[in-house]
Amino acid sequence: MRRYLIAGNWKMNTTRQDGVALAKSLVEGAAAATKKVDVLVCPPFPYLIPVLDAVKDSGIAVGAQNAYFEAPGAFTGEVALDMLVDLGCKSVILGHSERRHVLGETDAIINKKVIATRKKGLQAILCVGELLEERKAEKTEAVLDEQMAGGLKDVTAEMMADVVIAYEPVWAIGTGLTASPEQAESAHAHLRKWLETRYTPDVAKATRILYGGSVKANNAETLLSQANVDGALVGGASLKAADFLPIIEAGV
Ligand code: PEP
Repeated sequence: MRRYLIAGNWKMNTTRQDGVALAKSLVEGAAAATKKVDVLVCPPFPYLIPVLDAVKDSGIAVGAQNAYFEAPGAFTGEVALDMLVDLGCKSVILGHSERRHVLGETDAIINKKVIATRKKGLQAILCVGELLEERKAEKTEAVLDEQMAGGLKDVTAEMMADVVIAYEPVWAIGTGLTASPEQAESAHAHLRKWLETRYTPDVAKATRILYGGSVKANNAETLLSQANVDGALVGGASLKAADFLPIIEAGV
């Protein structure tokens, strides 16, 4: 059985003080839930260390929102995977739509990051999702196929053991628009079929596919109840414990 993963993407938000306070509230509020669901928080790079300290010995894991694929060296402004391993991070979000569409990351770059992340033993959360115009033009599945093929090029079945897919329709991110449970399930079922064809039925069965896009306390349960939805990647609603804890609870 796939265990739910509820992940918070703090994006470029919080202060150190607020981030630590949020992490501490989650440790307290999610202590019981973490026995049943995986909980991950992904703060901005400068706050990884204080947040890691705040969740130490709790069931909450800490991840990064990005990383560079090269070994440490002359890459000004980048953060190496070795550094994240050194700190005790467990996971990296890769190919988020803001990195694709605001910062110009291509499938080829994302693919290098996925491979480097898995080679370092960290969990790779690969985000895929279509733009509104692509959905309107009925290109959703074609876009997902392309992003999956590009992002997972040369990623072996063994590496897939800790790859998580996050389906995040771009039109639903930070907009308050959520995919309907049927739209989410249809995309997730398509992604699982893709995994079955590209890999094996076992890989498809074991790989978690998260939904992301304006997940809130009031829609989390319905989304999570869909057969192929194995968790949530949450942006805005992960910034307050009062908003995020009920989403975690929805997975219990
Ligand atoms: C995200 O950042 O991945 C996201 C889904 O954001 P929001 O929940 O705010 O739509």
